[in-house]
Amino acid sequence: MTLKLYNTLSRSKEEFRPIDPENVRMYVCGPTVYDFAHIGNARPIIVFDVLYRLLRHVFGADKVTYARNITDIDDKINARAAQEGCSIRDLTERTADQFHADIAELGVLEPDVEPRATETIPEMIELIERLVTKGHAYEADGHVLFNVPSMADYGALSRRSLDEMIAGARVDVAPYKKDATDFVLWKPSDDDTPGWDSPWGRGRPGWHIECSAMSWKHLGEMFDIHGGGIDLQFPHHENEIAQSRCAFGHGAMANYWMHNGFLQVEGRKMAKSEGNFVTIHQLLQDWPGEVLRLNMLKTHYRQPIDWTEKSLEESWASLRNWYGRTDLATARPGFSDAVLSALADDLNTPMAIAELHKLDGDALAGTLAALGFSGKLTDPRERQVDAGKVLGLINARANARANKDWAEADRIRDELDAMGIQLKDAKDSGTGELVTTWEVKR
Ligand code: AMP
Ligand code: ZN
Repeated sequence: MTLKLYNTLSRSKEEFRPIDPENVRMYVCGPTVYDFAHIGNARPIIVFDVLYRLLRHVFGADKVTYARNITDIDDKINARAAQEGCSIRDLTERTADQFHADIAELGVLEPDVEPRATETIPEMIELIERLVTKGHAYEADGHVLFNVPSMADYGALSRRSLDEMIAGARVDVAPYKKDATDFVLWKPSDDDTPGWDSPWGRGRPGWHIECSAMSWKHLGEMFDIHGGGIDLQFPHHENEIAQSRCAFGHGAMANYWMHNGFLQVEGRKMAKSEGNFVTIHQLLQDWPGEVLRLNMLKTHYRQPIDWTEKSLEESWASLRNWYGRTDLATARPGFSDAVLSALADDLNTPMAIAELHKLDGDALAGTLAALGFSGKLTDPRERQVDAGKVLGLINARANARANKDWAEADRIRDELDAMGIQLKDAKDSGTGELVTTWEVKR
């Protein structure tokens, strides 16, 4: 079977050929843990989970190594911990736990390794030392900077002009920089800021060097696939490439660079800074995790997704339909041929979902399971409702109506309404009796 993936480096779909089919290696940039993850952050998590499952199917479950890091050193983390008056470790542990709890509901497999920046400091220091020795980095004013002009083909991934790079990187014009595009590898920490001893004094790493060091430690100097959201292409991934290629002297850091498109709200990227975000945690109060997963996969990973309630309702209806037609409890995971060929064509999940609609029985159950669906579809809102209390109130209302106490019947309806419960009255077609059912309002 040929697996084709779109490679941002070549701007084209290429046949995927791993460096070593016995150990296929993928690195995905994970979250910076200082706050709840929003649903846009869940997109790379779900997309690369599908790719991980596909690679395991094609090459063998024990022949794929997937590393997804946790960035637990960052100035946003320092600022938030100071604001909350807690230690950095408290904040990052708590946020990482919440992140794991959230994404567990989305049906994603755990990566093989989940490195943390704080556990990879010696490798970062070693990388920076190599870059200094080779003339690609220099120390200035307690900082160590990567000298961008020292790399002849810097910018090959994002294909930006120098002017665009300067604007895009929002590089501050620090007097100690040799070139405006030079970026920080190491910076000094004062006594109130977390820091580690280094040949350049007590300090902390820049963001980009963290990923170069973590991928090197767990996947080697060169590996197969590097993934993340399209916003990371520049400067983050460009700088990762510069660091790793210049430190190790290879023509590539990873052979295939894959980027998911943005999840948007009314045409704008969902982002903390835009204030238009909704957290995974909040969504899970209203929607089963599998609905969020399917909704994410209905759009091809490179296209923007407009995140709407209507689409979520439709995703829920599709899952209800599938789960009503087959039983996942005893499913043996395995892709149907048509779903597999859709996925093998640069993860064409919308096509795979169209094919799912044509399946039933064991083929449907097996394919759903292979795609990470478990068959669990409990409405989370029902868990938050005291069903006994609702039924008691419905009975009391029926009694009030039987006694023609309309005021009391209306009062009870309002009380239920305030609890978020909507009543539906219908006549039983056989007995002609009034039957009241209820549901949780949206
Ligand atoms: P961050 O914590 O901001 O570094 O983001 C973690 C991951 O989520 C990165 O791979 C980002 O590219 C990705 N990401 C952030 N916002 C969005 C969005 N609105 N849509 C898709 N991916 C996103
Ligand atoms: Zn990264």
